Amino acid sequence: MVQVINTVDSSEVDKHDVAAVNKAENRPMYASRVKIHPKAGAGTFRRLKWILVFVLLGIYYISPWLRWDRPGNAPDQAILIDLANRRFYFFFIEIWPQEFYYIAGLLIMAGVGLFLVTSLVGRAWCGYACPQTVWTDLYIWVESKVEGDRNARIRLDAAPWSVSKISKRVIKMAIWLVIAIATGGFWVFYFADAPTLLHQLVTGQAAPVAYFTIAILTATTFTFAGFMREQVCTYMCPWPRIQGAMLDEESLIVTYNAWRGEPRHAGRKKAEAQGLKVGDCVDCNACVAVCPMGIDIRDGNQLECINCALCIDACDTVMDKIGRPKGLINYTTSSLYNANVAGKNEHWNASHLLRPRTAIYFTVWAAVGIAMLVTLINRSQLDVNVVPDRNPLFVQLSDGAIRNGYTVKILNQKQELRTFRLLIDGLKGATMEMVGEEGAPREVVEIAVEPDKLKAVKIYVSTADHDVLKHGKSEFTFRVEELNVTGEPETAMEQTVFHAPDNDEED
Ligand code: SF4
Ligand code: SF4
Repeated sequence: MVQVINTVDSSEVDKHDVAAVNKAENRPMYASRVKIHPKAGAGTFRRLKWILVFVLLGIYYISPWLRWDRPGNAPDQAILIDLANRRFYFFFIEIWPQEFYYIAGLLIMAGVGLFLVTSLVGRAWCGYACPQTVWTDLYIWVESKVEGDRNARIRLDAAPWSVSKISKRVIKMAIWLVIAIATGGFWVFYFADAPTLLHQLVTGQAAPVAYFTIAILTATTFTFAGFMREQVCTYMCPWPRIQGAMLDEESLIVTYNAWRGEPRHAGRKKAEAQGLKVGDCVDCNACVAVCPMGIDIRDGNQLECINCALCIDACDTVMDKIGRPKGLINYTTSSLYNANVAGKNEHWNASHLLRPRTAIYFTVWAAVGIAMLVTLINRSQLDVNVVPDRNPLFVQLSDGAIRNGYTVKILNQKQELRTFRLLIDGLKGATMEMVGEEGAPREVVEIAVEPDKLKAVKIYVSTADHDVLKHGKSEFTFRVEELNVTGEPETAMEQTVFHAPDNDEED
């Protein structure tokens, strides 16, 4: 992890560093939790966080109710993970099980995107978009509306049980429970038609797994956002440990500028009057009071810090009040911090974003995205798969011809009935018979496939061609062509092998 507080020339900053290091080293390995009562914040970053809470929860709760008109019997839910039929629907995109690479691609993009964001702006994911942060923000907001802000909550915690305390706790937990049930409830709507499932849930007709999933998610939301909060980030989530590998000297992270703030004085004016050297920090603890992780950013960069920047808002308000420039706590890089400690008045600019690490992350992220987009645009909605019979490999007919059997599977990924013709390329004299269909052997077989279905047919391929038979084993191709279409017909091909007597012992 990048250590922002470095050994520098300034003796005051040195003292601060030593204090921070000592404090970190003296921490016990195990300590009981001290409950945190974050103060309601206000400012640019708080507003940004509320916007993100609103947008992200809006997306989560509204998405299952969006409809998307699809032809045929396909579901009309815009976003649906249809486990029963093994399909994933996302507006106009339908992903089949064999196209799982799209999901894998999205996961790779999400992972590399997280690396990129972390290398640029530290734990922005943790501070703004992680579900644990978003739901905890919402729960703390409910708590502050019911029980009051930080000081009122501290007093209420310390107060003996009374009707007022019990009723506040009951109201708070009832609202938490409603949010938790909604969280679990809306999750299952992504896996079935939402209006139908809602009716089934209310009338007790839904599958037990739906109730079980809701119960699990309700319990985890209620516990994690209501009670465990910062402990989930600090002790349960592996990301704080991993993210250190993504940060470098140019990553923007929330930093207390000790070179400007130290030596801190609660009575700044008095200290100035006494001729003492004073920094900008007035030791008001406003930054500590708003911190949802319960840490003091002035102790340096810490594992617990989720980079939510609420301490920046709090300190900027204080700086405004005492007539000092904002930014005593700000987003800065380790290299800029060290430059300022050394007396160089340097400022961040966009060139800090472009570094080998970020260029590599962005290139990988963009390459995966472009590759997925190209394959998505050019994806075929027809697929063919051929499985040759293994036993027997071939049969000799009374006229001397050799016959092989194949199971040909044609996948129609469109929501409409389609007719295809099956042909053979590269096998001289070959004719086909489709099991279950009358008629003489022929060179073309027509097959109709239901919308959104896979059809398997048994095909016998025969040939008496001397050139083919003398080789023992010949490769050829089954070609499937779409019929009766106005535009460009889709085709699909699959190579396979024709076996004749000569070399069959090799197989
Ligand atoms: S120290 Fe500041 S940025 Fe870090 S978690 Fe606390 S309030 Fe958020
Ligand atoms: S809010 Fe600013 S001035 Fe107040 S203690 Fe924190 S860093 Fe110092």
